Amino acid sequence: MPELPEVETTRRGLEPLLAGRRITAFEVREPRLRWPVPEDLTTRLADAQVHRLARRAKYLLLETDRAGVLLHLGMSGSLRHCPPETPLRRHDHLIVHLDNGYQVRLHDPRRFGCCLPLPDDGTPHPLLAELGPEPLDPAFDGDTLFLRSRGRRGPVKAFIMDQAIVVGVGNIYATEALFLAGIRPGRATGRVTRAEYQRLAAHIKAVLAEAIEQGGTTLRDFLREDGTHGYFRQSLHVYGRAGEPCHVCADVLRTRRIGQRASSYCPTCQK
Ligand code: ZN
Repeated sequence: MPELPEVETTRRGLEPLLAGRRITAFEVREPRLRWPVPEDLTTRLADAQVHRLARRAKYLLLETDRAGVLLHLGMSGSLRHCPPETPLRRHDHLIVHLDNGYQVRLHDPRRFGCCLPLPDDGTPHPLLAELGPEPLDPAFDGDTLFLRSRGRRGPVKAFIMDQAIVVGVGNIYATEALFLAGIRPGRATGRVTRAEYQRLAAHIKAVLAEAIEQGGTTLRDFLREDGTHGYFRQSLHVYGRAGEPCHVCADVLRTRRIGQRASSYCPTCQK
């Protein structure tokens, strides 16, 4: 599943190719995504000029002078910028035709992604209304995590993966940040100290920033404007390494399930 760093990498790759361009046609080849793509989007976006491609959590927001569009890549979606002669693939469901002849195609084999109009009055889309702060925004810090955590009994890993608390901290990034902060994933949310939350927030920001810097960890499909795969692998300390030795203390890493997700940790480095 594309995580926040992949979505941000996609945004950074595509925005310079889209901003200022005119959309000559918006082609819907398969409207049955997670929610149906509204039929009138085709007419609403025709001849629209793109202002920018923004991001909120894992949503991309295509803003134009006519209508705004909310895009989500779902489980398996990707966007590709290509010349028109590039052969269509089976799951290329949406095509944005640009005035320079290039196209941006949404490819989504599992069709869990979405493409919905943004409200015309500038209010946030209902899907965005309940979201917590962006992890890389200064408004997100250890103090706010600490204040929201008091009295909560659930595991701290589920807490930092809760989109109402902070958006975009997927399993990989939560697992790695908890290791770097020295906190076990199963510890009760309300028993993590303020100083630990400060360390944790700093590591969440650092692992996400590093992943964005490297172009995303789990990215497979996004083709960059030069046609090369934007596929990088971050050095991971604990994620996917249960049974292997800890990079810091050489103790054997363990795993437990938290919220149906495998959560690996070091029994020595994490308390
Ligand atoms: Zn260790």
